[in-house]
This record gives sequence, structure tokens and C-alpha cells, in this order.
Amino acid sequence: MFEAVEAALNQRAKEKGIEKRNDKYQNRYSFSGKIICSECGSTFKRRIHSSGTRKYVAWCCSKHLKQITECSMQFIRDEDIKTAFVTMINKLIFGRKLILQPLLDALRGMSNSDNLSRIQELEKQIEKNAEQRELLVKLMAKGYLEPALFNRENNELKMEADNYMGQKEALIHALNGELSKVQEVSNLIKFTNKAEMINTFKEQIFNDHIEKIIVYSRVEIGFVLKCGITLRERM
Ligand SMILES: [Zn+2]
Repeated sequence: MFEAVEAALNQRAKEKGIEKRNDKYQNRYSFSGKIICSECGSTFKRRIHSSGTRKYVAWCCSKHLKQITECSMQFIRDEDIKTAFVTMINKLIFGRKLILQPLLDALRGMSNSDNLSRIQELEKQIEKNAEQRELLVKLMAKGYLEPALFNRENNELKMEADNYMGQKEALIHALNGELSKVQEVSNLIKFTNKAEMINTFKEQIFNDHIEKIIVYSRVEIGFVLKCGITLRERM
């Protein structure tokens, strides 16, 4: 039994080791491409800075690095971003009932009512439009319409149909966006319900729930969550 337990522990350690290495290999820096400058919209680049003999990781606006006169945003420290993230996540876990549940309710209400009925209305209009065009073709075939009149009427109906289709697509697009947000908020609620507060940066949590980071200044950043809300943190 002793040997079996030891073998199991070794196996587990091995798997963990492999997992860790894979993680690092596939996504070396979780912040790459995800930090956005609020002043110029560029992404931040990772750099190694040194003060005296001490080296540290910093993130800098790529436009600022290229041409300092075009963006005045200064660098921020990797460590500070991680600390701000830990604070933000802990606030979210602590205040989930105040922040996330009302958001979920609001999103659910929105996606179910107005957009859906407007889409149904448009579908009726599209159907009616198709019937009118069919009738027009029949009348033309039977010789009741002048070709010029037919063309004019037909073009008008076509334009109307394109207009309805465009509106319908836009609404479906918006509705899907809302539904995916509902899904993201539900994920976040599930996570915060069972999560314990953290005291170090957790890459997995960051990747699961954060879309991007916006840098407002050297002392304030905002985490844009996948569910659509932005939570600001001082650094
Ligand atoms: Zn910038």
C-alpha cells in the first residue's frame, strides 16, 4: 500500500509539473496583448526595467516607447497589476450578491423582451414584402403592368426587404451579444460562489474572466470582464 501511495503521489506530481510547463509554454505572459492604453489605444509591451541592482517587469505603451511625444502614458509595474487584480477579485467574491446578481437579472430582462418582439415584427414585414413581390411578378406575367412601372415597384420592394433584413441581422447580433454576456455573468457567479479569497495572482482566473485591462494612469487601471463590466482599481 505504501508503494502504491507513493507511486500515485509521484504520478500526480509529474502531471502537475507537466501542466505547469505547458501553461508557461503556451501562454507565457497572461497580460500580453491585453493591456490597452486609454490615451492612445495601443497595447502595452513587456519590458525588464532595473532600478539600481534590482530588476523588475514593467508594461509600457508601445506608442509611448516608439514616439514619446505621441503618447504620454508612463509604464506600470507587473507586480502592481497583479496586486490590483487580487484586490479586484476579492472584492468581487465579497460583493457578488450586490454586483453580479443584479447585473444578471438586468441582462436577462433585456435579452428576452424588446429585441425578440422587434425581430418577430420584422419577420412578418419580410414575409408580407415577399408576398407583394410575388403578386407583382404575377401581374407582370399576365400583362397587367407596364415594364417601367413593374421595375419601379419591384426595386422599391427589394430595397424595403434589404432594409428589413439588415435591421433583423443587427438585432440578432445584439441579442447574441447579450446572451453571451448572460453566459459570462453566470460563469462568474458560479466561480465567485465557490471561490475563496485569493492572496496571489492566479493566471487561470485571469484568463477565464478578464477580457482586457485599460490603463487610465500610473495609479489607476480598469479590468474589463468578459461579461461586459469594467472594474476600476487604484494602484
Ligand atoms: Zn499610449
